[in-house]
Amino acid sequence: MIKYIGRFNVVPSLPPKLEPLREIVYNLYWTWHYDAIDLLRRLDPKLWEETYHNPVLMLGRISQERLNEVANDDSFISHMKRVFDQLKIYKEEKTWYQKNYGYDKENVIAYFSAEYGLTESLQIYSGGLGVLAGDHLKSSSDLGLPLVGVGLCYKEGYLQQYLTSDGWQQEKYEITDFYNQPMTLVMNNDKTPLKIELNFPGRNVYVQVWKIMVGRVPLYLLDTNVPENNEEDRKITRTLYGGTIETRIQQEIVLGIGGIRALYAMGIKPLVCHMNEGHSAFLALERIRLLMQQYNLSFEEARDINFYSNVFTTHTPVPAGIDIFPNELIEKYFGNYYRNELKISDKTFYSLGTIIKDKPPSSYNMAHLAMNMAGFVNGVSKLHGKVSKKMWQAGFIDIPFDEIPIDYVTNGVHTHSHLSNDMQELLYRYLGEKFMRDPSDKEIWNRIDDIPDEELWRTHERRRERLVAFARNRLRKQIIEKGGSVSEINAAKEVLDAQALTIGFARRFVAYKRATLIFRDIERLASILCNPNYPVQIIFAGKAHPRDEEGKKIIQEVIALSKEPHLRKKIVFIENYDMNIARYMVEGCDVWLNTPRRPLEASGTSGMKVIANGGLNFSVLDGWWDEAYDHDVGWKIGNGEEYDNPGYQDEIESRLIYEILEKEIVPLFYTRGEDKLPRGWISMMKNSMKKLGPIYNTHRMVQEYAQKFYFKAYEKRLYLMNNNWKKAKEFTAWKQKVIQNWDKVKFVSISEEQKGVDLKVGNKYQIYAEVELGDLTPNDVDVQIYYGKVDNGSDQLTNYVNMVYVPKKQKSNVYFYRGEIDCKHTGQFGFTLRILPKHELMISNFELGLIRWAQ
Ligand SMILES: *Cc1c(COP(=O)(O)O)cnc(C)c1O
Repeated sequence: MIKYIGRFNVVPSLPPKLEPLREIVYNLYWTWHYDAIDLLRRLDPKLWEETYHNPVLMLGRISQERLNEVANDDSFISHMKRVFDQLKIYKEEKTWYQKNYGYDKENVIAYFSAEYGLTESLQIYSGGLGVLAGDHLKSSSDLGLPLVGVGLCYKEGYLQQYLTSDGWQQEKYEITDFYNQPMTLVMNNDKTPLKIELNFPGRNVYVQVWKIMVGRVPLYLLDTNVPENNEEDRKITRTLYGGTIETRIQQEIVLGIGGIRALYAMGIKPLVCHMNEGHSAFLALERIRLLMQQYNLSFEEARDINFYSNVFTTHTPVPAGIDIFPNELIEKYFGNYYRNELKISDKTFYSLGTIIKDKPPSSYNMAHLAMNMAGFVNGVSKLHGKVSKKMWQAGFIDIPFDEIPIDYVTNGVHTHSHLSNDMQELLYRYLGEKFMRDPSDKEIWNRIDDIPDEELWRTHERRRERLVAFARNRLRKQIIEKGGSVSEINAAKEVLDAQALTIGFARRFVAYKRATLIFRDIERLASILCNPNYPVQIIFAGKAHPRDEEGKKIIQEVIALSKEPHLRKKIVFIENYDMNIARYMVEGCDVWLNTPRRPLEASGTSGMKVIANGGLNFSVLDGWWDEAYDHDVGWKIGNGEEYDNPGYQDEIESRLIYEILEKEIVPLFYTRGEDKLPRGWISMMKNSMKKLGPIYNTHRMVQEYAQKFYFKAYEKRLYLMNNNWKKAKEFTAWKQKVIQNWDKVKFVSISEEQKGVDLKVGNKYQIYAEVELGDLTPNDVDVQIYYGKVDNGSDQLTNYVNMVYVPKKQKSNVYFYRGEIDCKHTGQFGFTLRILPKHELMISNFELGLIRWAQ
């Protein structure tokens, strides 16, 4: 290979009048503003499609004549100025954050994710996790949160799917040319690329940083493909979720440790770090190292400080979904780091990678690391919060299930990024300007009722037509690529029916999502789809993981059925599912089908994307739908049962699908009045929009993260920082004292004044206790009565009340407490007592893992 000796970057040469375009294309603001998208398409409609909606590449390829032409087109120039002004206003206007919170600009929140789904031309995402992260940034920008994103810059991204003629998934990877993407390299003052260094075994790895503007929010992407690195290291950030387990640990070091170093190198010192999934959990170690080094703190002090400013969001309902590294691999990459930088023993270091306290760790679990390091931990739906508690219960010995400190924040979607231009225009007209700014406002959504049924229906139908046209076009291309015959190509024009009830099913093809559940009784399905008066059709899309043979077989099954002569026009599979296909589908489908095996869908977000577009959900009660479902906003499959026998479950649930389609969905859709409008259906669309629209979006979600976690984390951090971390040092000392003393903490005596007496509602049941606390005092603990109704069989205590310390002359270290249970209901009650550590800084009484129950 010939080595080049110099390099330079060529950028488009724009006529001076078109200069504003440069700023417009380099800010992803355009991805959720149709006026900007229209402008870019208008520039060169053909190139817009050819570059897969990448405006930077388009500007690089567009002919100078065309540029000169539009520079002299007054209408184009005024359109461009309007977009440019809107962008400027957007960046400068007062936001939710600025209006409501007086925090300093310096209080940066850094959001870390292994993938980001921002727009289709930027292949740095694989699916739901990435789109969620992208939407998180977009809403943070809209809300004005001082947040920055950190991720990796994958040259090959995620797999591109194509199918063989017998339906077997093949994968290819496309190289992304970052210089022709809406991103720029972060530079030093001397115009050389900024690079940070990471210590790898026997060498240093260099990382450069790309910056993408998402409205107001910068996203920094780390890239090891630099000349200083050896060939192998240049490939570390090559593919998303590719390579070996060693590639994975290298990527996670680049993301977590490299991410923090890159931010510091740019002068950004985040107060709060949010780990979107465990991939970035190494960042917690680097934050500790930095604090120790900068302020001469002990490992324990630095760890305790950071604990309150790390947020961890888990998205996995099964242990198999978590990254676990063997200790040898950890030793290889972190041996030096923990011995010489963190200065801790191997025992201490390896215990960070597990939440299981009573067993020496044999591997390093990234979710456990994140949980040990983050004071704020959450699942992504109400149900998933519970599932996460169950999954990690073993790490919270003796703590009642309900009190395990794992919270939930239900996912959302960035409404305007997933809303069709047609529907956005309609909603803008009826809901007003405020809808554009704040789609989480319930009042605004109530104005849906003002939209005439006819208008809403026509708008929705237009999108269904667009979807059908898009699907036919894609199908035609797929056939041509596979060398199909002319008759096959022509037949593609006739698939689907723009008037028919259209069901969408698009998701990763993995066994638990059961894409073929609806095919279990193919005759019955065929009779539903092929009813000449009430036709129904299904559009599928989705990729299988490259190593998931089972997932690929499911795709093959769908393909086989889509070729059956009587189903050919009714079932279509669109290859290479991505954000572009997703957009067409969620904007045009009538029904969004989801059939996961509960409770394996942590949240799911594609169903949320159909809401504002007027689509209706038809889903198993799993993930978000478990909390969102109501009889007047969509349909449920089953009642949230969990089965031991999967075959039996499939049988039951597939029958439910047919039954609901036959008895409810199809009749509602085809019950038309004189005016041909399905009034009942439209009323359900409106209910779904009104009731679900304001909730299942990332504006609500990001506000929740901010109020529940980010702002609390700020406050704690600022408080701890006072007087050179005086409070922090005191807290760590206190914590050590509590841990060392905990063995001595116990109940000496417990007495009940009314033992054996029947009480009446309104009475109070008095309890007294003497507790021994070693070197601790009543300031350090809460003594609580934990009580509840004792039902036949299941004794579930769920309430607690604090007891009051009553100063009395006592033996030293023994303290007297009094408490009472308010008898509000009749029945039999049970109680016990417990002692918990107490400190103003702690988020929960349970975070030290210490609890003493009465014996
Ligand atoms: C929204 C989206 C997803 C997530 O969908 P789920 O409901 O979580 O399956 C995946 N891929 C793409 C391209 C999306 O747009």
